[in-house]
Amino acid sequence: MNHGHPIERSRFLLAAAALGIGATQLGRVTAAAAAGTGRSRTTTAVRSVGGFDVIALYDASGPFFTTRQVAFPTATPVDWERAERLDPAAFGPDDQWNLDFRCYAIRRPNGRVILVDTGVGPAGSPASSWAPVPGHLPQRLIDAGIDTDDVDLVVLTHVHSDHVGWSVHPDGVPMFANARYVLQHDEIAALEAGGGEAMLRYLVDPLRRAGRLWEVSGATPLVGGSGGSDRCRSTTVRVVPTPGHTPGHQSVLVEGGRRQIAITGDVLVHAVQLVNPDVGYRYEDDQEIARVTRQALLAEAGSRHTLLATAHLRQPFVTAPSPGRPRHR
Ligand SMILES: [Zn+2]
Repeated sequence: MNHGHPIERSRFLLAAAALGIGATQLGRVTAAAAAGTGRSRTTTAVRSVGGFDVIALYDASGPFFTTRQVAFPTATPVDWERAERLDPAAFGPDDQWNLDFRCYAIRRPNGRVILVDTGVGPAGSPASSWAPVPGHLPQRLIDAGIDTDDVDLVVLTHVHSDHVGWSVHPDGVPMFANARYVLQHDEIAALEAGGGEAMLRYLVDPLRRAGRLWEVSGATPLVGGSGGSDRCRSTTVRVVPTPGHTPGHQSVLVEGGRRQIAITGDVLVHAVQLVNPDVGYRYEDDQEIARVTRQALLAEAGSRHTLLATAHLRQPFVTAPSPGRPRHR
């Protein structure tokens, strides 16, 4: 999400234990997590696609810095009602929007991992002026049995500070030593066109210097189609451009067998945009492009029964509404 407005960190209530979600919303729970507190916030939700595991990695949680009506000005009472049924934990008192900050790992049968987004980061990260830092991604990776050296690709859906926080150390050394970092050319070009100097200095320049930046243009296959076991040969992972939230925003599609998962980044940031894709988010870079992108992605996902993996909803996986199901009363 965009976050042009600083926020009092005291507004973020970091008591993760108080933020439980129903166990029925979770997939397989890792043994390590199950041995923990038993609260769902510390468990790891996993969905499998053709032999690949898509693992939700909860980094942080907190209330947004404006009311939900300010963030989504065109949402109607009916939209809110339907959204609350779908993602009730996002609804706090006094019109408060509670949101998660989540990353995803895609673990292949060979043990290698694609990480999608890197969260709000540690104390002092670029997101720390407004987001609930430190995030918990390093512990979540351990919980999921993922060593940082196992990660060979890091996809950054976009360069907002709550999606890149655990990418590089403060001295600029990449946190995932064996990984190439995938960014759309348009995203970098937008930074370079003006106003993005801080993020260029913090993220892009160090990755370039380390030879770790993989700048792609448009839809790009990352994994699949060859190698691996027969069962997994047809499973593919690719990035697709989903502009609007930012100019070079991208999403990740994992496809194999009969199931597809779309890791959407910030194409939708609240369930209200799932029940009504026309509802714009105030801090989108280009609201019209974002709306068209959201409609197209959700229509495609609905017709293919694609599971959505979002960064900010309070549940890690949601089903896209099927086409034909009325979005408005
Ligand atoms: Zn975001």
